[in-house]
Amino acid sequence: MQPARILLALAFVVSLACVAAADERKQLAFEVVDHNAQQMTDIGDSLFYFGELGMQEVESVKLLEDTLKAAGFKVEVGGAGMPTNLWAEYGSGRPKIAIVTEVDALPGGSQTPGTYERKPLVQGGPGHMEGHNTHGGVASLAAFAVKQVMARHNIPGTVAVSFGPAEEQLASRPFLVRAGYFKDVDAIIYLHIRDALATGFGVQNYAAISSVFTFHGKTAHGASNPWDGKDAVDAVELMSIGFDKLREHLRPTYRAHRTITFGGIQPNIIPDKGQIWWFVRDASMPAAKETYDKLLKIAEGASLMTGTTWDVKYAASAWPQLVNKAIAEAIQKNIEVVGVPKWTEQEQQFARDFQKAAEKPVVGLRTAPIPLGGRAQSAASNDSGDVSWVVPAGSLNFPSSVPGIEYHEWKAAVTPVSSISHKGQVAGAKVLAASVIDLLTSPELLQKARAEFEVDAKKTPYFSLLPPDAKPDLDLNRGEMEKYRADLRKHYLGKTPRFN
Ligand SMILES: [Zn+2]
Repeated sequence: MQPARILLALAFVVSLACVAAADERKQLAFEVVDHNAQQMTDIGDSLFYFGELGMQEVESVKLLEDTLKAAGFKVEVGGAGMPTNLWAEYGSGRPKIAIVTEVDALPGGSQTPGTYERKPLVQGGPGHMEGHNTHGGVASLAAFAVKQVMARHNIPGTVAVSFGPAEEQLASRPFLVRAGYFKDVDAIIYLHIRDALATGFGVQNYAAISSVFTFHGKTAHGASNPWDGKDAVDAVELMSIGFDKLREHLRPTYRAHRTITFGGIQPNIIPDKGQIWWFVRDASMPAAKETYDKLLKIAEGASLMTGTTWDVKYAASAWPQLVNKAIAEAIQKNIEVVGVPKWTEQEQQFARDFQKAAEKPVVGLRTAPIPLGGRAQSAASNDSGDVSWVVPAGSLNFPSSVPGIEYHEWKAAVTPVSSISHKGQVAGAKVLAASVIDLLTSPELLQKARAEFEVDAKKTPYFSLLPPDAKPDLDLNRGEMEKYRADLRKHYLGKTPRFN
């Protein structure tokens, strides 16, 4: 053979060997996931019954901390000023790949699993009507599988898991970014339950800014001496009307909604306090910020018209999620390898009956992964978006819920501990582990992801919406959680999951 041909043949053999090595590593990860599937679903099921709201994820984080510590991870709880923030790591140095997700529940979401009749487990109590409970086990087991592969194959670098508090209130990720958690991270994969095994790329959802405006006036008797009063609720109304006048002049992509959180005491008392809470959203953060700045002017105008003073308190913010195509392509390959779980006829029948009862299309469970393609940008928001503008981000959804059953409704709390959810978690953990392995072991992939990220980040440079003195709201959901914790505790599973 000519030298060039020999080289070519050699390169072919080496690349085959690489593919074989990669397959062997992923195979090991899949075995670790299968071997620990019960432990993983015990985590998700335990978190379901904890039913903890954002910033109050105490039991959930304790269980994850204990599990990850026992699994050989270095675990930090309470970082960035949030007692329920968990960051776990294994390994050292670069590349450093982080799995980013959350485990909070929703108010009023308590439901007896398995039955699609409305039947709260704890009347009025919080519950997992989005299935974030499943994130705990999937992220932890995937990280553990990666750890086992790194140890066996001497793979350098770090695998990290970030459980950020209070995703449902968009309350923690801007603080994590500000605290520098992602400074030395090369890529992240954001994990979320869905009714499908899927990834995507592009800008996936909306930017949001949430603020509470308070007006301060002067109280007086509504009949005897109203001329002495300055009505702070008038200012609230004028702010609302002022924004309605602005709506015509905003981009069609905008969204804005408000609720009056303090509207006076009784008609014959001129209120010296009025309060209105706003969400402003748009397809990009600069566009949302532009509208938000106009909202500030409207507040100023309303206060001028009423002779009141005003202040504004930052409540939350989220950049839209920017999802990397290079990482999506890598994830999609793993999705094709792992495939959708094999559902039993019983599971399919349950899904169809559930869909029928919920008056949704009766289509059953998905039997194939979603092909890779640009997904339409949704108008919802997720605070992990902030992370995706400081580090290249992939996104993975795993099939643990029933198509057509919408989140943020008690119905979505019917299946998070079902066999459907459990099987979906296994598929999710495998794809996640394999994709983290790809990112850890392929400098080309990381380079490609980084180059793509740089273009987007240059076009729209990240800025934080956090006021410099902003602190996480640790009292968020505290009262609500304290009201129900004792009743929820009666349903705790008392399991101690351990990976091996
Ligand atoms: Zn969610």
